[in-house]
Amino acid sequence: MATTDAPIGAQAFIPPRADTLDELKAAAAGCEGCELYENATQTVFGRGAPHARIVFVGEQPGDVEDQKGLPFVGPAGRLLREAVDDAGIDPAGVYITNAVKHFRFELRGKRRIHQNPGPAHITACRPWLVAEFALLNPQLVVVLGATAAKALLGPAFRVTRSRGQLMPWPASAQHPEDFPVAEIQALATIHPSAVLRADDRDAAYSGLVSDLKTAAAALT
Ligand code: SF4
Repeated sequence: MATTDAPIGAQAFIPPRADTLDELKAAAAGCEGCELYENATQTVFGRGAPHARIVFVGEQPGDVEDQKGLPFVGPAGRLLREAVDDAGIDPAGVYITNAVKHFRFELRGKRRIHQNPGPAHITACRPWLVAEFALLNPQLVVVLGATAAKALLGPAFRVTRSRGQLMPWPASAQHPEDFPVAEIQALATIHPSAVLRADDRDAAYSGLVSDLKTAAAALT
């Protein structure tokens, strides 16, 4: 069994010759690469078009996603879908996933309160992201928030400083060799849950849509 101090990581659970995202998803259902599987309801794997032009990477499933087994179906997901629509991105050409695939939370009474995944969880779960990217062939990667940025772009990357800027991908990735795809682009922006928490929600939403419009314009 995995322990909190030394997660064994997801690599051991990844089928060596998975040809499809569905195969990966089925295998991820049994992942015990870190302790987060112990209290969460289920693994929440990515979903969307296998031939997606844009891959969105978020943080981790929330309470609703944990119960439904699907990413971005809670309040933040609804907001992201609105923003994608307002930015003129075709949702049929999108694949969406998370850096960490189990819900991390703290119980307060009967309420499950979201907790950010730690560096060990991000590292433990990263092989699933790498495996997803090995089967995807997007034109653009959109990194949503600090946790996804840590997983993909490294711990020194600051979303607040560099959001909305197109970057070469995989050259801007931490360990670009993990992502053997043709030269494409990446862009980081805030996580939609940050819009929900913002004092000025309208301004935060406009900023998210503006970043996504930059992403949309980069598609060929
Ligand atoms: S969070 Fe990731 S590494 Fe940890 S058990 Fe879940 S799928 Fe496996």
